[in-house]
Amino acid sequence: MTLLIVDMQNDFMPGGPLGVPGADEIVPILNKLMPHFSLVVATQDWHPADHTSFAKNHPGKKVGDRVEVQGISQILWPVHCVRNTKGAELVSGLNKDKISSIFYKGTDKLVDSYSAFFDNIHRRATGLYDYLESRDVEEIYIAGVATDYCVLYSVLDALEFGLQVHVISDACRGIDLYPGDVEAAFTKMVERGAKITPSSAL
Ligand SMILES: [Zn+2]
Repeated sequence: MTLLIVDMQNDFMPGGPLGVPGADEIVPILNKLMPHFSLVVATQDWHPADHTSFAKNHPGKKVGDRVEVQGISQILWPVHCVRNTKGAELVSGLNKDKISSIFYKGTDKLVDSYSAFFDNIHRRATGLYDYLESRDVEEIYIAGVATDYCVLYSVLDALEFGLQVHVISDACRGIDLYPGDVEAAFTKMVERGAKITPSSAL
């Protein structure tokens, strides 16, 4: 069984610049889950300081505003997960021993990347799918943050690749920028074919 842990980084923890409510609560759940999997991989949001998703890089714009980037709508976020900074590190309580490979996303300053597999314009792959394919992975369990962004888009891309996808419901936390976003994300994932599985079932 394969587990994908999405973006469990300091800046996404409560109190961080892009803190996801309750994200710290899933660290012990993930640590408990990892030994049940034969393969564990993780992603890190890994931006250059001049990344297009940061509001401060768009004069006159503020966090939460939308801009057009490469033909798609981009929500502007606070500065977060700048590569090689403390904020971009995996959260310290997470057991890293079982993580066999890490895939970096959002590395191109001109385009954001919510999915663990591709940037938002599907131009550049992170290498995760090739890695999974080379190991004959057909079924994947996904957990982490944020349910309504990076988890959601990772799940949708995994389904597009034909993988069987399980979302570990209690090991995900979302932002809910607009109330209802998290619920809508779960609905969309299920509609596309993902299974929602609680950690207690593993
Ligand atoms: Zn980001």
